[in-house]
Amino acid sequence: MKAKFKTTCISCNGEINPGKEIAKDNSGKWVHKHCLTEAVELP
Ligand SMILES: [Zn+2]
Repeated sequence: MKAKFKTTCISCNGEINPGKEIAKDNSGKWVHKHCLTEAVELP
């Protein structure tokens, strides 16, 4: 989904601006979509 408001990615600590593709991690925190993919791929 796309971000509707400005928030912070807890994975990379970067800003998430409105309109960016985002996802929720296992604890329900917003992360960049590409950051979540990286997290899932970790062993
Ligand atoms: Zn991120």
